[in-house]
Amino acid sequence: MKPPRALPGSPVVTLVGAGPGDPDLLTLKAVKALRRATVALVDDLVDRSVLRHLRPTARVVPVGKRGGCRSTPQDFIHRLMIAEARRGERVVRVKGGDPFVFGRGGEEVDVLRAAGIGVEIVPGITAGIAVPAAAGIAVTDRRHAPGVAFVTGHVREGGNAPDWAALARCGLTLVVYMGVAHCAAITAALVEGGLDAQTPAAVIQHGCTAQQRRHVTTLGELAVEVERLGMGSPAILVVGDVVQGAASLTGAVAGPLTGTCAPGSVVAAATA
Ligand code: SAH
Repeated sequence: MKPPRALPGSPVVTLVGAGPGDPDLLTLKAVKALRRATVALVDDLVDRSVLRHLRPTARVVPVGKRGGCRSTPQDFIHRLMIAEARRGERVVRVKGGDPFVFGRGGEEVDVLRAAGIGVEIVPGITAGIAVPAAAGIAVTDRRHAPGVAFVTGHVREGGNAPDWAALARCGLTLVVYMGVAHCAAITAALVEGGLDAQTPAAVIQHGCTAQQRRHVTTLGELAVEVERLGMGSPAILVVGDVVQGAASLTGAVAGPLTGTCAPGSVVAAATA
């Protein structure tokens, strides 16, 4: 059955992508949506300085959901969005990166539409593109890869797990979200699937922020290095020959790229 369409003047919730961490990577459309809002439901990967675009009277409800931490049940978030929108509030649901890239935006749209509430989407810059870029990695550098695959390293029970053996053979750059906690299993599955253990690989933590740390190594060494350096969430893993390009980009990328990026180096961000 088709979900009911929102009528003109009926409640609307705006899903806003807040980008990967640097508040300057917010879109103008996101800023406009924040300025209009009276209630903001905010994920915990969203940089708090983004909220300065809200009006002073806007109500902020943190609804964090980080792996391994206490989190707000998704059902509660759905009910809250619906209730606030029906009360006539102008609701923004603020998410890190892009709402539709590993952001449960799709589920929220379905629930809102089923409740007869209109939905507006403000796309954001996703971490899988921005974080490697800020670390000097061009994910689709045509000299090294014909494309890029964005995959999750965290699969909920009964969910679709990535086919690591197929990914090992696909020739694409692999960008793994939420993979740092399962790095050993992921890298072992890729090597078992036939990907050379010498393939360049990087981990970037807190990308696009002043706390950014990145480390370049090989696929075979990645898990040991992640453990040794204590690189935790939020972090992105990048696997593929494009990673070696990071070394030659020193100084050419705006933002926190400093020092060289030879295999085995950790480069911490310079504070802007
Ligand atoms: N919707 C978000 C992704 C949410 S899933 C987006 O489009 O970017 C959360 C995961 O995104 C984290 O576990 C991490 O893998 C990645 N991530 C988000 N922000 C990041 C950052 N600043 N640095 C590194 N990884 C980040």
